[in-house]
Amino acid sequence: MKSLRMCCNCRKMFYKDELIRIVRNKENLFLIDKTKKINGRGAYICSECRKEDLKKRKVLNKSFKCNVPENIYDDIKVEEC
Ligand SMILES: [Zn+2]
Repeated sequence: MKSLRMCCNCRKMFYKDELIRIVRNKENLFLIDKTKKINGRGAYICSECRKEDLKKRKVLNKSFKCNVPENIYDDIKVEEC
């Protein structure tokens, strides 16, 4: 069964394979989780929101309640998933 996840920018629900997952792992490092299986707190961004200026609005900082490195925001834009 496919599971739905919420895009942390537009707050709409999507299937996991339509989203890019960002995760904070055990070492407190932020990663783009292509496997969507890395343990840790995760946040999802949909394909439409990826085109938006998430860095300016610091969308992930709100989700993770801490400072997400700027390069993660850059990676979201260029990452193939
Ligand atoms: Zn979205």
